[in-house]
Order: sequence, then C-alpha cells, then structure tokens
Amino acid sequence: MRVVVLGAGFGGLELATGLSGEFGDALDVVLIDRSDCFIFGFSKLDVMFGRTPPDAVLHPYADIVKPGVRFVQTEVRAIDPQRRHVETDAGAFDADFLVVALGADLHPEATPGLAEAGHEFYTVDGAFALRDVLATFAGGRVIVAVTSTPFKCPPAPSETALMLDELLRERGVREKSSIALVMPMGKPIPPSPAASDAVLATFAERGIEWLPDRLVTELVGERNVAKLSDGTELAFDLFMGVPQHRAPEVVSEAGLTVDGWIPVNPHTLETRFAGVYAVGDVTSVGTPKAGVFAEGQGAVAAEHIAAAIRRVETSADYDGRGVCYLEFGGGEVATVDVMFVTGQAPVGTMGGPSLELAARKAEFGASRAERWFGKAWSTT
Ligand SMILES: Cc1cc2nc3c(=O)[nH]c(=O)nc-3n(C[C@H](O)[C@H](O)[C@H](O)COP(=O)(O)OP(=O)(O)OC[C@H]3O[C@@H](n4cnc5c(N)ncnc54)[C@H](O)[C@@H]3O)c2cc1C
Repeated sequence: MRVVVLGAGFGGLELATGLSGEFGDALDVVLIDRSDCFIFGFSKLDVMFGRTPPDAVLHPYADIVKPGVRFVQTEVRAIDPQRRHVETDAGAFDADFLVVALGADLHPEATPGLAEAGHEFYTVDGAFALRDVLATFAGGRVIVAVTSTPFKCPPAPSETALMLDELLRERGVREKSSIALVMPMGKPIPPSPAASDAVLATFAERGIEWLPDRLVTELVGERNVAKLSDGTELAFDLFMGVPQHRAPEVVSEAGLTVDGWIPVNPHTLETRFAGVYAVGDVTSVGTPKAGVFAEGQGAVAAEHIAAAIRRVETSADYDGRGVCYLEFGGGEVATVDVMFVTGQAPVGTMGGPSLELAARKAEFGASRAERWFGKAWSTT
C-alpha cells in the first residue's frame, strides 16, 4: 500500500509523520517536494528583522528519518486525480491514497511595478533580501501592504509593521520615518475584536498608520507611489508587499480546483476524487491560510487514510481550530485562539501580549522540529 504526499510543508510533514507513527515500515509513504529544506513562515520575519541568521532557520529534509517515509526532492509536473497518478522529474508515482499539500504559490510579477520598485517579504528570497535593506535603511516613508486576497497568515503584515517600528527605533531612524499599513480587511484580526482593538491601540501608540479595506494594485517606480484600490496614491521610499497568491499551476491543470482552490469535505479533507485528499493553503476549506491550520488538517487526513487502510470507521473530524502567535515588538507575543466552523462566524480569543507567550511560540517551533525532523531547535 502506498501513500503519495505532494508537498512537505506544515500539512504534508504532519500527515507523513502521523502515518509513520501509525504504520511504521508497513506502509510506503512517498513525500515529495521541490525544495531541499523546510522553513517556518515566522522564521522569514525573524531573518528579515535580523533576529536570526538565515542558515539557522532552514530544516533540511535529509534529516527526516521516519519508518516508512521516503523523501524525494523533485518537481511535480502533472497530477491525474482519477488514477491517483503523478508525474515528476524523478519519474512517475502511483498511489493508493494521494495527498495534495502543495500550498499557495506567490506571484510578485502579477502586481505591476512590485518587482522593479518595491520588495516582497513572503518568499524566502524576498524576506532574506530585505534583511540587508532594513539593516541599512536611512529612514523615510515605508509602506507595508497586501496586494490581493486570500493571503497567508493574515496577522503577518500587522506583525511586520510592529517589528519594523521596533527595528527603526533601535537603529535610531524611526523619527525620520513613517509606517503605513495597507490591509484588505476592516480589522487586523477579524475573528477577535479584542485582539483587533489591542493591535489598533498599539498602532496608534507607535504612530503606525492603519489603512483598512483596501489593497495596493500597482507601484509607479518613476514617481515612487503606490496606487491603491480606492483610487488614491501613497508615496514611499521603501515598499514591503505581500504578493498575489494562487494555487500551483500543476494543481489547477489537474482539474482539482474550483474558483482557484481545491474544495474538500471540511470534516475529512477528502476531495471529490476517491482516495485523494488535500490539506493546507491549497484548499478552500474555510480556515485562513496558515501553518497551524494546515497541520491540523494533515493530522485529520492521516487518521482518515489510516482508517481506510485498516477498513475501520473513524470519528476524526476537522474542528477548524488553531492558535496564532502575533509578534508585538519588544520581545512580546500575543496569541489568538480561533475556531472556524463551516457555516458559522469564526470566533477568537486573545491572550497576552507577554514574554511568557513568546516562550510558548518558541516551544511551538521547537516541538515541530523535534516531531518532524527529530532534532533540537531553538529560535533564539
Ligand atoms: C511571513 C510569513 C509568516 C507566517 N507566519 C505564520 C505563523 O506565525 N503561523 C502560522 O501558522 N503560519 C504562518 N505563515 C503561513 C504558513 O507558512 C503557511 O500557511 C503554511 O506553510 C502552509 O502550509 P502548507 O502545508 O499548506 O503549504 P506549504 O508550507 O507552503 O508547503 C507546500 C510545499 O509544496 C512545495 N511545492 C509546491 N509546488 C510544488 C511542485 N510543483 N513540485 C514540488 N513541490 C512543490 C513547496 O516547495 C512547499 O514546500 C506565515 C507565512 C509567511 C509568508
């Protein structure tokens, strides 16, 4: 029996780990990714703001030693969900169960002027390159902005604005600078009014301009202005954008998507194709695109695949719950515990910000590094 897992991000890693724990060598799990290493999303911010050196946040897949799991570094070229057949640069794979966990692709080139006149901080290369830019920035008008919806980790642009404020203060150039945050939502953390109020109060305290309900649609390099979806323009000296997100082309070409993303049964994560599951950012399951949700979905899909292999029933049911960590600057972190249930308004409660929750966030990363890669890892 073979399970082929496409994508070794939060979702694919958790799923492969769950199946290995359940079956060991008795099950053939092929885990495929084009990259040679994993990186937590929040590590991109740590590197960008000079908290951590780049090589400390890369987790090589070569470290994965799990009974039954074989990692293959290759590009997925074609997926046939009817036949559960996959074509890659390393050959073809047939699966009894197929899992699509390929995440969301990022397209900076889709926003005119972004690549030429600005920076994006969502890809590994983009975030790492901004480390040097921020270390030498002499001060000026900074825009942190989202260019389309949906986008990964909705709190990340707010965290970026707060961490930027802190860095510019430390570097002594905050008084010469302004920070504007352009966001498509009305509130920074829509499911939690308390978290949104706390973030907005902190923005006001630190002089961060909050521009809700709009996007940046274009940068005009000659004039150093960003065009906004409400028809206005905003001048900048440094632009830090969240690029457009799309399902990987290989997924849409496979006929798996509807309205851009893969629809799944919100309880089991199975697609409309028998034996084919999808987890994480590549789906339209109804949770935000964030690692903590991808991981929860990977765990539930693993239980359903395990039950199907054993030909037993399972009560495993995806609950749409996740705890998001939010950097406030000053080393403090808040948590937002959110629940997204199909057909209901999402609800969230806030904790912190505090140094104690910063330690809990570090433990979150360390526990995943231990579980997925079998290694001790610290973010500090
Ligand atoms: C700046 C930033 C901060 C973030 N902070 C947080 C946070 O604090 N908490 C949180 O929960 N989430 C956070 N996120 C979001 C989180 O990183 C993603 O939501 C999460 O990684 C999604 O997991 P996934 O398994 O769905 O996809 P991914 O982790 O994106 O994994 C998909 C994998 O598929 C591979 N792949 C894609 N196409 C192909 C192909 N054709 N062939 C082979 N391989 C392919 C990719 O290489 C990738 O490894 C953050 C994101 C960013 C950008």
